[in-house]
Amino acid sequence: MTTSLADIKKTITALERKYGREKNTVSLLAVSKKQSVEKILNLIKQGQRAFGENYLQEALDKMHDDLIVNCGEQIEWHFIGHIQRNKTKKIAEHFSWVHSVESFDIAERLSHQRPEQLSPLNICIEVNLDHEASKSGANIKAIPELAQAINGLPNIRLRGLMTIPKPRESLDAQHEPYHRLQVLFDSLNAAGLNLDTLSMGMSDDFEAAIAEGATIIRLGTALFGARE
Ligand SMILES: *Cc1c(COP(=O)(O)O)cnc(C)c1O
Repeated sequence: MTTSLADIKKTITALERKYGREKNTVSLLAVSKKQSVEKILNLIKQGQRAFGENYLQEALDKMHDDLIVNCGEQIEWHFIGHIQRNKTKKIAEHFSWVHSVESFDIAERLSHQRPEQLSPLNICIEVNLDHEASKSGANIKAIPELAQAINGLPNIRLRGLMTIPKPRESLDAQHEPYHRLQVLFDSLNAAGLNLDTLSMGMSDDFEAAIAEGATIIRLGTALFGARE
């Protein structure tokens, strides 16, 4: 089921109020993977600027599409997919944010390959909360040391943490992984980091994520409908 951008924004505002979050502290990343340029333009017309993509070539095709280029709006592209080592240069050159950094090696490459004339690349470390072997993300135990190391790199700015938990049925159960990410986030800041971003919550569980402190929710299906 799809909802209009205006309705999603209203829902976010209502959830901020419901969970005692300050107004406008949750921002919306429109996840446009496998969605058409026409659908993206339609959201741009309604005022959406931040778009998330998972597959590098698909994202580059969209960025260079005449309709997107000619729309004249400043779009902020976020890379949220699994990062192959040989793709870091293009990612560093074409995106404002990367949510899916899971190793020092990848962060160091992005830092090294970020063009000088661009502002620092905003980075989140992806955390594997459910210890799923098949899933991407760094092990939760490795995060404190990894975050300190990445934070020292030039040309990037470590903004926070991201996670994709395994699906859970009830709203109650959905709180649990997001709560753990928030606790980890607070402990990193208490240890001296200056993080401001919790990238968590997707179409099926963003209410729990907002309740637990999400600052960016990543919605695909809820905004665009089923993917092609
Ligand atoms: C696809 C994807 C989303 C969006 O998922 P929906 O369930 O369609 O909202 C969010 N985050 C990541 C990392 C994704 O790959």
